[in-house]
Amino acid sequence: MKTLKIAIQKSGRLNEKSVEILKNCGLSFENYKSSLISTVTNFPLEILFLRDDDIPEYVQDGIADLGIVGENVIVETGANVSYLQKLGFGKCSLKIAVKNDSDIDSVAKLDGKVIATSYPVILDKYLKANQVNAQIRNISGSVEIGPGLGLSDAIFDIVSTGGTLKNNGLKPFTSVMNSEAVLVATPGLEFNTEVVELVQRIQSVLRART
Ligand code: ATP
Ligand code: ZN
Repeated sequence: MKTLKIAIQKSGRLNEKSVEILKNCGLSFENYKSSLISTVTNFPLEILFLRDDDIPEYVQDGIADLGIVGENVIVETGANVSYLQKLGFGKCSLKIAVKNDSDIDSVAKLDGKVIATSYPVILDKYLKANQVNAQIRNISGSVEIGPGLGLSDAIFDIVSTGGTLKNNGLKPFTSVMNSEAVLVATPGLEFNTEVVELVQRIQSVLRART
Protein backbone atom coordinates (compact mmCIF):
# COMPACT_ATOMS: atom_id res chain seq x y z
CA MET A 1 0.00 0.00 0.00
CA LYS A 2 1.38 3.39 -1.04
CA THR A 3 1.73 6.04 1.66
CA LEU A 4 -0.02 9.15 0.41
CA LYS A 5 1.18 12.68 1.08
CA ILE A 6 -1.21 15.54 1.70
CA ALA A 7 0.00 19.15 1.65
CA ILE A 8 -1.69 21.66 3.93
CA GLN A 9 -0.86 25.25 4.90
CA LYS A 10 1.84 25.47 7.57
CA SER A 11 0.44 28.60 9.20
CA GLY A 12 -2.17 31.12 8.22
CA ARG A 13 -5.87 31.27 7.62
CA LEU A 14 -6.32 27.70 6.40
CA ASN A 15 -3.99 25.84 8.78
CA GLU A 16 -6.26 25.30 11.76
CA LYS A 17 -9.34 24.21 9.81
CA SER A 18 -7.23 21.92 7.60
CA VAL A 19 -5.79 20.16 10.66
CA GLU A 20 -9.25 20.02 12.22
CA ILE A 21 -10.92 18.36 9.24
CA LEU A 22 -8.18 15.71 9.04
CA LYS A 23 -8.47 15.01 12.78
CA ASN A 24 -12.26 14.79 12.44
CA CYS A 25 -11.71 12.11 9.79
CA GLY A 26 -10.26 9.99 12.57
CA LEU A 27 -6.66 10.52 11.49
CA SER A 28 -4.14 10.40 14.31
CA PHE A 29 -1.05 12.60 13.99
CA GLU A 30 1.16 14.97 15.93
CA ASN A 31 0.74 18.61 14.98
CA TYR A 32 4.07 20.08 16.04
CA LYS A 33 4.49 23.67 14.89
CA SER A 34 8.21 23.09 14.32
CA SER A 35 7.94 20.05 12.10
CA LEU A 36 7.28 20.26 8.37
CA ILE A 37 6.12 16.69 8.01
CA SER A 38 3.95 14.54 10.23
CA THR A 39 3.13 10.85 9.90
CA VAL A 40 -0.43 9.67 10.42
CA THR A 41 -0.27 6.60 12.66
CA ASN A 42 -3.57 4.96 11.68
CA PHE A 43 -3.76 5.59 7.91
CA PRO A 44 -1.11 5.40 5.14
CA LEU A 45 -0.70 9.16 5.01
CA GLU A 46 1.93 11.81 5.65
CA ILE A 47 1.10 15.46 6.14
CA LEU A 48 3.35 18.12 4.61
CA PHE A 49 3.15 21.62 6.05
CA LEU A 50 3.86 24.18 3.32
CA ARG A 51 3.24 27.76 2.25
CA ASP A 52 -0.12 27.83 0.52
CA ASP A 53 1.36 29.30 -2.66
CA ASP A 54 3.50 26.18 -3.17
CA ILE A 55 0.70 23.64 -2.68
CA PRO A 56 -0.88 23.64 -6.20
CA GLU A 57 2.43 22.96 -7.95
CA TYR A 58 3.49 20.29 -5.46
CA VAL A 59 0.22 18.49 -6.10
CA GLN A 60 0.40 18.99 -9.87
CA ASP A 61 3.91 17.53 -9.94
CA GLY A 62 3.01 14.61 -7.66
CA ILE A 63 5.42 15.63 -4.88
CA ALA A 64 2.25 15.68 -2.78
CA ASP A 65 -0.66 13.44 -3.83
CA LEU A 66 -3.30 15.62 -2.21
CA GLY A 67 -3.57 19.20 -1.05
CA ILE A 68 -5.87 21.55 0.81
CA VAL A 69 -5.68 25.09 -0.57
CA GLY A 70 -7.82 28.07 -1.59
CA GLU A 71 -9.29 27.90 -5.10
CA ASN A 72 -7.90 31.38 -5.70
CA VAL A 73 -4.34 30.10 -5.27
CA ILE A 74 -4.96 27.21 -7.68
CA VAL A 75 -6.34 29.53 -10.35
CA GLU A 76 -3.56 32.07 -9.82
CA THR A 77 -0.79 29.48 -10.18
CA GLY A 78 -2.52 27.83 -13.14
CA ALA A 79 -1.67 24.41 -11.73
CA ASN A 80 -3.22 21.33 -13.29
CA VAL A 81 -4.86 19.49 -10.38
CA SER A 82 -8.08 17.50 -9.93
CA TYR A 83 -10.75 19.01 -7.70
CA LEU A 84 -12.09 16.40 -5.28
CA GLN A 85 -14.14 18.32 -2.73
CA LYS A 86 -15.04 21.84 -1.61
CA LEU A 87 -14.40 22.08 2.12
CA GLY A 88 -16.66 24.92 3.27
CA PHE A 89 -14.01 27.06 4.99
CA GLY A 90 -11.62 29.82 3.91
CA LYS A 91 -14.47 31.50 2.06
CA CYS A 92 -13.69 34.83 0.45
CA SER A 93 -14.21 36.87 -2.73
CA LEU A 94 -11.72 38.57 -4.98
CA LYS A 95 -12.95 42.06 -5.67
CA ILE A 96 -11.92 45.22 -7.43
CA ALA A 97 -12.11 48.26 -5.17
CA VAL A 98 -11.56 51.98 -5.59
CA LYS A 99 -11.37 55.03 -3.33
CA ASN A 100 -14.71 56.05 -1.82
CA ASP A 101 -14.74 59.26 -3.88
CA SER A 102 -13.65 57.62 -7.14
CA ASP A 103 -15.85 57.93 -10.21
CA ILE A 104 -14.84 54.44 -11.37
CA ASP A 105 -18.02 52.40 -11.03
CA SER A 106 -17.77 49.94 -13.88
CA VAL A 107 -15.19 47.63 -15.37
CA ALA A 108 -15.12 49.71 -18.56
CA LYS A 109 -13.97 52.75 -16.60
CA LEU A 110 -10.81 50.88 -15.57
CA ASP A 111 -9.50 51.38 -19.10
CA GLY A 112 -6.10 53.11 -18.95
CA LYS A 113 -6.00 52.89 -15.14
CA VAL A 114 -3.46 51.29 -12.80
CA ILE A 115 -4.64 48.38 -10.63
CA ALA A 116 -2.52 47.01 -7.77
CA THR A 117 -2.85 43.34 -6.85
CA SER A 118 -1.16 40.19 -5.61
CA TYR A 119 -3.31 38.18 -8.05
CA PRO A 120 -2.11 39.38 -11.48
CA VAL A 121 -3.10 36.22 -13.36
CA ILE A 122 -6.74 36.17 -12.25
CA LEU A 123 -7.02 39.92 -12.80
CA ASP A 124 -5.43 39.78 -16.26
CA LYS A 125 -7.89 37.08 -17.37
CA TYR A 126 -10.81 39.11 -16.09
CA LEU A 127 -9.66 42.32 -17.79
CA LYS A 128 -9.05 40.52 -21.08
CA ALA A 129 -12.48 38.87 -20.91
CA ASN A 130 -13.96 42.34 -20.47
CA GLN A 131 -11.73 43.87 -23.15
CA VAL A 132 -10.31 46.40 -20.72
CA ASN A 133 -6.81 47.73 -21.10
CA ALA A 134 -5.48 48.52 -17.64
CA GLN A 135 -2.00 48.40 -16.18
CA ILE A 136 -1.53 45.70 -13.55
CA ARG A 137 0.92 46.55 -10.78
CA ASN A 138 2.00 43.38 -9.02
CA ILE A 139 2.45 43.92 -5.27
CA SER A 140 3.00 41.10 -2.81
CA GLY A 141 0.97 42.50 0.08
CA SER A 142 -0.86 45.49 1.61
CA VAL A 143 -2.29 46.46 -1.76
CA GLU A 144 -5.00 48.47 0.03
CA ILE A 145 -2.66 51.39 0.69
CA GLY A 146 -2.04 51.87 -3.06
CA PRO A 147 -4.87 54.22 -3.98
CA GLY A 148 -4.36 56.47 -0.93
CA LEU A 149 -0.70 56.91 -1.86
CA GLY A 150 -1.47 57.55 -5.50
CA LEU A 151 0.26 54.29 -6.46
CA SER A 152 -2.79 52.90 -8.18
CA ASP A 153 -6.31 53.91 -9.21
CA ALA A 154 -7.83 50.66 -8.03
CA ILE A 155 -6.92 47.45 -6.25
CA PHE A 156 -7.85 43.82 -6.80
CA ASP A 157 -7.71 41.78 -3.64
CA ILE A 158 -9.27 39.20 -1.37
CA VAL A 159 -12.21 40.48 0.64
CA SER A 160 -13.97 38.54 3.36
CA THR A 161 -15.65 41.03 5.71
CA GLY A 162 -14.70 44.23 3.89
CA GLY A 163 -13.19 45.72 7.06
CA THR A 164 -9.72 46.28 5.59
CA LEU A 165 -11.17 48.06 2.57
CA LYS A 166 -13.30 50.30 4.75
CA ASN A 167 -10.38 51.18 7.03
CA ASN A 168 -8.42 52.29 3.99
CA GLY A 169 -11.19 54.42 2.49
CA LEU A 170 -11.96 51.95 -0.29
CA LYS A 171 -15.19 50.50 -1.69
CA PRO A 172 -15.55 47.38 -3.82
CA PHE A 173 -17.56 47.69 -7.02
CA THR A 174 -17.26 44.29 -8.63
CA SER A 175 -16.62 40.72 -7.55
CA VAL A 176 -14.41 38.69 -9.88
CA MET A 177 -14.35 35.29 -8.17
CA ASN A 178 -15.53 33.48 -5.05
CA SER A 179 -13.17 31.08 -3.36
CA GLU A 180 -13.04 28.53 -0.59
CA ALA A 181 -10.64 25.82 0.55
CA VAL A 182 -10.74 22.72 -1.64
CA LEU A 183 -9.24 19.25 -1.57
CA VAL A 184 -7.25 18.58 -4.72
CA ALA A 185 -5.25 15.65 -6.04
CA THR A 186 -2.60 14.93 -8.61
CA PRO A 187 -4.51 14.18 -11.84
CA GLY A 188 -5.08 10.45 -12.15
CA LEU A 189 -5.05 9.81 -8.40
CA GLU A 190 -8.80 10.34 -7.97
CA PHE A 191 -9.47 6.62 -8.15
CA ASN A 192 -6.70 5.44 -5.82
CA THR A 193 -8.29 3.30 -3.08
CA GLU A 194 -6.88 5.31 -0.17
CA VAL A 195 -7.78 8.60 -1.84
CA VAL A 196 -11.36 7.41 -2.31
CA GLU A 197 -11.48 6.31 1.34
CA LEU A 198 -10.18 9.68 2.53
CA VAL A 199 -12.61 11.63 0.35
CA GLN A 200 -15.49 9.55 1.73
CA ARG A 201 -14.41 10.29 5.30
CA ILE A 202 -14.13 14.01 4.56
CA GLN A 203 -17.56 14.00 2.94
CA SER A 204 -19.14 12.37 5.97
CA VAL A 205 -17.48 14.94 8.27
CA LEU A 206 -18.92 17.71 6.06
CA ARG A 207 -22.38 16.08 6.01
CA ALA A 208 -22.40 15.77 9.80
CA ARG A 209 -21.89 19.54 10.03
CA THR A 210 -24.93 20.57 8.04
P1 ATP B 1 1.29 31.60 3.38
O1 ATP B 1 2.23 32.02 4.46
O2 ATP B 1 0.92 30.15 3.50
O3 ATP B 1 1.77 31.98 2.01
P2 ATP B 1 -0.76 33.67 2.99
O4 ATP B 1 -0.42 34.86 3.80
O5 ATP B 1 -0.52 33.67 1.52
O6 ATP B 1 -0.08 32.37 3.68
P3 ATP B 1 -3.41 33.56 4.23
O7 ATP B 1 -3.62 35.01 4.50
O8 ATP B 1 -3.17 32.63 5.37
O9 ATP B 1 -2.29 33.31 3.11
O10 ATP B 1 -4.68 33.08 3.38
C1 ATP B 1 -4.77 31.77 2.90
C2 ATP B 1 -6.05 31.66 2.08
O11 ATP B 1 -7.18 31.91 2.91
C3 ATP B 1 -6.22 32.63 0.93
O12 ATP B 1 -5.49 32.25 -0.23
C4 ATP B 1 -7.72 32.55 0.71
O13 ATP B 1 -8.04 31.42 -0.07
C5 ATP B 1 -8.27 32.35 2.12
N1 ATP B 1 -8.89 33.54 2.74
C6 ATP B 1 -10.11 33.58 3.33
N2 ATP B 1 -10.38 34.81 3.82
C7 ATP B 1 -9.33 35.57 3.56
C8 ATP B 1 -9.01 36.94 3.83
N3 ATP B 1 -9.83 37.77 4.46
N4 ATP B 1 -7.81 37.39 3.43
C9 ATP B 1 -6.93 36.58 2.81
N5 ATP B 1 -7.19 35.27 2.54
C10 ATP B 1 -8.37 34.77 2.89
ZN1 ZN C 1 0.57 32.54 0.49
